Amino acid sequence: MTLPKSLPDRARVVIIGGGVGGTSVAYHLAGQGERDVVLVERADLTSGSTFHSAGLVGQLRADPTLTRMNMHSVALYRELQQGENPPGWVECGGIRLAGTPERMEEIRRQIGWAASFGLPLEEISAAEAQRMFPLMSTEGVLGGAYLATDGYVDPSQLTYALAAGARAGGVRILTHTRVLGIEVAGGRVAGVRTDAGDIEAEIVVDCGGMFAAEIGRMAGVRVPVVPMSHQYLVTEPLRERDGTRSPSVRERGGTRLPTLRDPDNLVYFREEVDGLVMGGYERRSAPWALDDTDQDAVPADFNGRLLGEDWDRFEEIAANARLRVPAMADAGIRKVINGPEAFTPDNEFCLGETEVGGFFVAAGFCAHGIAGAGGIGQVMAEWIVAGEPPMHVWHMDVRRFGAHYRSPSYTRERTVENYETYYDIPFPDRERSAGRPLRVSPAYGQHVALGAYFGEKAGWERVEYYASNAASGDASLRPRGWAGRGWSSAVGAEHAATRTSAGLFDESSFAKIEVSGPGAAKLLEWLCDNEVARDAGAVTYTQCLNARGGIECDFTVTRTAEDAFMVVTGTAFGTHDLAWIRGHAPRDGTVRVADVTGQYACFALWGPRSRELLGPLTPSGLDFPYLTSREITVGDVPVRALRVTFAGELGWELYCSSEYGAALWRTLAATGAVPGGYRAIDALRLEKGYRVWGTDLSPDVTPYEAGLGFCVRLGKPGGFLGEEALVAAKERGLTRRLRCLTLADPHAVCLGNEPVRVGGKVAGRVTSGGYGYTVGHSIAYAYLPATDAEPGTRAEVGILGDWIPAEVVREPLYDPRNERVRA
Ligand SMILES: Cc1cc2nc3c(=O)[nH]c(=O)nc-3n(C[C@H](O)[C@H](O)[C@H](O)COP(=O)(O)OP(=O)(O)OC[C@H]3O[C@@H](n4cnc5c(N)ncnc54)[C@H](O)[C@@H]3O)c2cc1C
Repeated sequence: MTLPKSLPDRARVVIIGGGVGGTSVAYHLAGQGERDVVLVERADLTSGSTFHSAGLVGQLRADPTLTRMNMHSVALYRELQQGENPPGWVECGGIRLAGTPERMEEIRRQIGWAASFGLPLEEISAAEAQRMFPLMSTEGVLGGAYLATDGYVDPSQLTYALAAGARAGGVRILTHTRVLGIEVAGGRVAGVRTDAGDIEAEIVVDCGGMFAAEIGRMAGVRVPVVPMSHQYLVTEPLRERDGTRSPSVRERGGTRLPTLRDPDNLVYFREEVDGLVMGGYERRSAPWALDDTDQDAVPADFNGRLLGEDWDRFEEIAANARLRVPAMADAGIRKVINGPEAFTPDNEFCLGETEVGGFFVAAGFCAHGIAGAGGIGQVMAEWIVAGEPPMHVWHMDVRRFGAHYRSPSYTRERTVENYETYYDIPFPDRERSAGRPLRVSPAYGQHVALGAYFGEKAGWERVEYYASNAASGDASLRPRGWAGRGWSSAVGAEHAATRTSAGLFDESSFAKIEVSGPGAAKLLEWLCDNEVARDAGAVTYTQCLNARGGIECDFTVTRTAEDAFMVVTGTAFGTHDLAWIRGHAPRDGTVRVADVTGQYACFALWGPRSRELLGPLTPSGLDFPYLTSREITVGDVPVRALRVTFAGELGWELYCSSEYGAALWRTLAATGAVPGGYRAIDALRLEKGYRVWGTDLSPDVTPYEAGLGFCVRLGKPGGFLGEEALVAAKERGLTRRLRCLTLADPHAVCLGNEPVRVGGKVAGRVTSGGYGYTVGHSIAYAYLPATDAEPGTRAEVGILGDWIPAEVVREPLYDPRNERVRA
């Protein structure tokens, strides 16, 4: 064993793990000018999952942020290839095949949004694919996509190249140094304990790959990753079916075969010498090294090691591979690699700062860590240096997982399901089934009885629509293509009932955060761009901004007492907003920030008849104005009623302690209001121009760009976080704006990420879209250059390969004078 020569007593940043993740974070920190960085690795560099990777680098992912990160990886690997430590980068291009019309639609959708950020993805025919990859059969291939800048890299060489770059930038790399413990003091990380001594540190980064959960436990942090076995094989040089050897790289004049992915057959290929690397995602997965309670328990000496070949599980992949590349049938197998890799419950990375201040994670790369490493290192380094992520990465943020992911069994079930459906098309109506139902509203049984169709978000069962309403809707409105999948005429019926009479919605899953104590008002005033510490009972719609003036949170704040506030935010954003508020709260005991989501049920009654229906049930009356709240009773149930709406109609959100929930729903349902689900809410809010965080709003856009300038109170006493950047941005002038478009074809409905063209050039991408049942238009929102954003501007929206004429319109489309909500 090589002992570290000198272990420093302290360092500003300690990185744990010398795989591709840890070395990339180190490389990028050095690039950011961080000089006091130490990387500790318990064995040798690359000896975790990295050394046995297949090394494919595909850039295109189901989401634009990750695709951008992978684009950075490629740019970096290309650059490193020209340097002193080339990582073996081969830019051979990549093909993705489509074997079904639906897969072809997916590819066209991807080509559409790839265009909106300059990724040169192009559609190709089966014959063109075969010309580029002559070993493949075109049997069953409808077409595909080609990306000229994809490729592959040698994972170990890449890691050494990154390590060399980091060292050159001053990073100390200590191998054979095992972290045994992590010191935490006052909610912040203070250092690491290793088998060679202790290192004090301000920041510790867990880049432990499949060991990341174990390292997290040392700091009291849950990192929900599961080690999963993943296999590929490497063939001997291939022979053509006629017995001749396939031409070698040199014989082909140095042209490399592109990488080839055939998701419908679950397989991928790349060239390796004169043979092929072939791997895939088995329908029967194999979590590895879990103990009896499903907790990861990777052996302490598992470094530089592989698992045994598992032919039984690989057989389906191997058979599919022979279909696509017939020469595989006669190919000799040089080696089979079966290695464990850290997968997460939703196939996204775990990045960012945890609830322990200064303790960061970059792990759970789900078999695309080589493709992602460059981008991951860049994002992490900027996050560490600036204290906040440089772009909208919430779906990769380690804090996105709610408390239920503390359960190893739930985490395992979800991870297994994700692995086994890795190559499935992510249709908009795709729902996960593992571990359901878990979190349910007190009225769940009543929804089931009404024929509710449930979707799942953050572990909650949420009503999408009620099948019992379908007969009242208009079936001819079904959108074409993907948007029509899982569509129900019930949505239109629920929408119409809310506009013309009254709709009843279960919003119990909305995240609720109580901020209380003598310092609560001051904290919230500092965090919010609007004035929120108003009179008790006041309800304020507001945003929290980051130091760049970007929107971190978007929620309502109700002052429930002199020193108590209730923040209500979207179901999926509770953990994010809680962490944002907590992360900025003083640690002197003057503010308590508590997640009270499960303590309250919440039902919304909205529509022109809602006062008439609710009034007789509330002896204390409903005569309080829009954006205020009161403690009232509804039937036998004590509730807090908020006069707010996300539908753009008169109405109330009624919050009651959870044990009353079933009774309150029963009481409200008996009024005759039509029960509705989240799809109707979404259609209602689109017509009214209400924004949603995560799509329309993000940390990358300011309230001015998002059309929320009406919430901003510049110059309020004490100021607010992000104000300076916001003022500067305002002075510079807006270069883009969130705009509403209506599409000429009502059956062409956007799902998000579709490209928008103005004057024949891609000018933006749809943030959210849907059909407005009252206005009778397909509606889309998109950020467009300010010059292209005036109402009346002609545009086109790319939906599944067709360009649909559209027009920028003045918003909101519905009730622009706000007369209905204030009725
Ligand atoms: C068979 C297979 C094929 C793959 N193919 C591809 C592919 O084609 N393309 C792609 O992009 N990705 C692929 N991957 C995934 C890729 O290899 C991983 O995502 C990536 O290597 C993970 O890197 P990492 O740095 O997070 O983890 P690792 O490489 O596992 O590094 C973590 C390091 O932390 C160290 N460590 C753990 N605990 C401690 C401690 N207490 N103290 C100090 N050090 C510690 C470990 O020793 C280890 O070296 C594949 C994976 C497998 C298994």
